[in-house]
Amino acid sequence: MTTVGILGGGQLARMLALSGAPLGLRFLVLDTVGDACAGQFAPLIVGDWRDERALAEFAAKVDVATFDFENVPAESAQWLAERIPVFPNPRALAVAQDRLAEKTLFRELGIPVPEFAAVDSRAGLDAALARIGTPCILKTRRLGYDGKGQFRLRTLADADAAWAALGAQADTVGLILEGFVPFERELSVVAVRGRDGEFRTWPLTENWHVDGVLSASLAPARVDAALAQRAYAHARRLAEALDYVGVFALELFCKDGELLANELAPRVHNSGHWTIEGSETSQFQNHLRAVLGLPLGDTRMVGLACMLNWIGALPEAAPVLREPGGHWHDYGKSPRAGRKVGHATLRADSAQELAAVLQRVGAALGREAQVAPVVAALR
Ligand code: AMP
Repeated sequence: MTTVGILGGGQLARMLALSGAPLGLRFLVLDTVGDACAGQFAPLIVGDWRDERALAEFAAKVDVATFDFENVPAESAQWLAERIPVFPNPRALAVAQDRLAEKTLFRELGIPVPEFAAVDSRAGLDAALARIGTPCILKTRRLGYDGKGQFRLRTLADADAAWAALGAQADTVGLILEGFVPFERELSVVAVRGRDGEFRTWPLTENWHVDGVLSASLAPARVDAALAQRAYAHARRLAEALDYVGVFALELFCKDGELLANELAPRVHNSGHWTIEGSETSQFQNHLRAVLGLPLGDTRMVGLACMLNWIGALPEAAPVLREPGGHWHDYGKSPRAGRKVGHATLRADSAQELAAVLQRVGAALGREAQVAPVVAALR
């Protein structure tokens, strides 16, 4: 009996556990809170990430460890890696935790990135602004997610407000200034690399964000094959450079046919949730196969799929369940503003059919605005 340990017990751990059940796997989750939603499907240890007693108990009970949460302190990941196999490796995790290290690596690998500069002080912000210009975005280097820890500067006059918002964090999590990319679309490559180096990607996905949080994903993205191949090549180069094992997502901006890398998510990713029903092997199952050294599954998809995120509270399920290609995911979380509480995946065999399904579901749920950009992309 193999037990997979997961650091972090949110919906990603929950979906990993669900997809691992047919493989006969057991799971153990470590989280800082007792009501983590993966705990509804797997035993849960409650403890701080730096609590050596909790880490030791976790290490003693699992065969291999992986992550649902990328901000587990790198030292805790390292402590575990000295005792049990940990995938992805702590170095990959550390790079992905720091926007500066991540963008520096992208650049070294020849993966184009937006302009960026480290910011350590108020004077440093002025120097970075002089180089990058406006519009731009000041971001925390670490611990930012879903658009949190970010401040957009439209003109140089916004510098004081940006510093007032984030300056206090310059000495703790660090800051980075990035040129604002007036992108036409946001894309992500969800990919998997096995212990033996085998590499696969799912079809490129197009994403729409609202207030920095993913709202909808469409696969395959409506882009030409050459652009998709470039995106896959970037993901492969990155995975090989980091000796990455498991699933990850590379988020990209597309502008004038060029791809610019935004960030690496070192784990299964929200823009890959459609793979549960939309592809031969889901990102969750392939992540488990990768970390266990099993053969990777086919990532081919049949038809098209759109994922709609439910943020804050779940809408009514029936309009989705009524659709032949409609699939519902309730994460078992209590409602809270800004919280990801579930998603739906709608599948269809043609763009026209998927657009019609989305319009029906959007109208029934009062979510016309959420489905509108996807419907427009399908036209
Ligand atoms: P992040 O946390 O870096 O993924 O940012 C969240 C969202 O903010 C992204 O998905 C984009 O929609 C937007 N964003 C972040 N960085 C930039 C940028 N340099 N230029 C334009 N939009 C950005």
